[in-house]
Amino acid sequence: MNNPFWSPALAALEPYVPGEQPRGTRLVKLNTNENPYPPSARAMEVLADPQLPDALRRYPDPESSELCAAIAAQEGLDPAQVFVGNGSDEVLAHAFYSFFRRGADEPLLFPDITYSFYPVYCQLYDIPHRRPALREDFSIAVEDYAGPAAGVILPNPNAPTGRFLPLEEIEQLLQLQPERVVAIDEAYIDFGGDSAAQLIDRYPNLLVIRTLSKSHALAGLRLGYALGQPHLVEGLQRTKNSFNSYPIDSVAQRLAAAAIGDSAWLRETSAKVIATRERVTTDLAALDFEVVPSLANFVLARPRAIDAETLYLQLRERQILVRYFNKPRIGDYLRISIGTDAEMDALLEACREIQATQDKSQTQ
Ligand code: PMP
Repeated sequence: MNNPFWSPALAALEPYVPGEQPRGTRLVKLNTNENPYPPSARAMEVLADPQLPDALRRYPDPESSELCAAIAAQEGLDPAQVFVGNGSDEVLAHAFYSFFRRGADEPLLFPDITYSFYPVYCQLYDIPHRRPALREDFSIAVEDYAGPAAGVILPNPNAPTGRFLPLEEIEQLLQLQPERVVAIDEAYIDFGGDSAAQLIDRYPNLLVIRTLSKSHALAGLRLGYALGQPHLVEGLQRTKNSFNSYPIDSVAQRLAAAAIGDSAWLRETSAKVIATRERVTTDLAALDFEVVPSLANFVLARPRAIDAETLYLQLRERQILVRYFNKPRIGDYLRISIGTDAEMDALLEACREIQATQDKSQTQ
């Protein structure tokens, strides 16, 4: 419907649709790649700090200096190589605005199957884009990313496939586009992949983007960050300071710094998620699913014995939420987040029952 108050650009927007966040405790929620384990207890201690009320009375540090220093220390980088934002979605938005708006002849490059927020930012900021197709097995064909471009963005591991692109191939991308920013969205890097952050000192065009939402179990805190050479960080700061100069609240700054410092917690929790993922991959294969090899905290899996959307709907009836994308090439798949072992057992049992019921109705 035409709304006379909306600008034409607003009316044309097709906003991103996030996975559902229903408020029910009985749900087995495997649809938005959240971490099933509670965040670091050391990080949560921040909430009991008697200084907190006074900190909240004032505006927060606009530069999030202590948090940037904590991230830099963890990564072996300089604080001038760190930029923080209100969730990595905000960091991504600033990166799109800062580096990828270059006009009609230079499209931004990202895969045909990838994080569905990228085309939304392109529309918001009027950025043309080209989407090279993933190979049949969902791997990225790096050679397709040559030629005139505003830059490249891709998640590694990719979402929603879970596939990891080896660092040698990330280097090839960086060399194919030496004059343009190559942004590697490492939302899922802590679940077994090798980070491209180790290449930052060698590549002035590399921007690595991370989040505390997945591996640190802090999706509700909204904290993301970017790592890159200081000239890229300065670019992001210019955009941020033209948009919202205090994006990270005082609680988030402190809690995130404590979470980043608790590397023992990260190691233990990620190891548990990885072990469950490997086990579930085998169990799903035994239930006649094709499972795409994943280094993330989710798997993309194609049920051979039942239609994917039917299975999604029937799981939903049993209070088990997974993600179904009604899109080309992945419409036969479900994306299943890795929960606790008990949650995954509930999922596997439900799939077994649903498939058995369907087998019976087919033979009747
Ligand atoms: N990048 C990718 C690839 C994601 O899947 C997500 C989560 N939807 C994000 C970025 C954004 O995460 P957040 O804003 O919670 O940091």
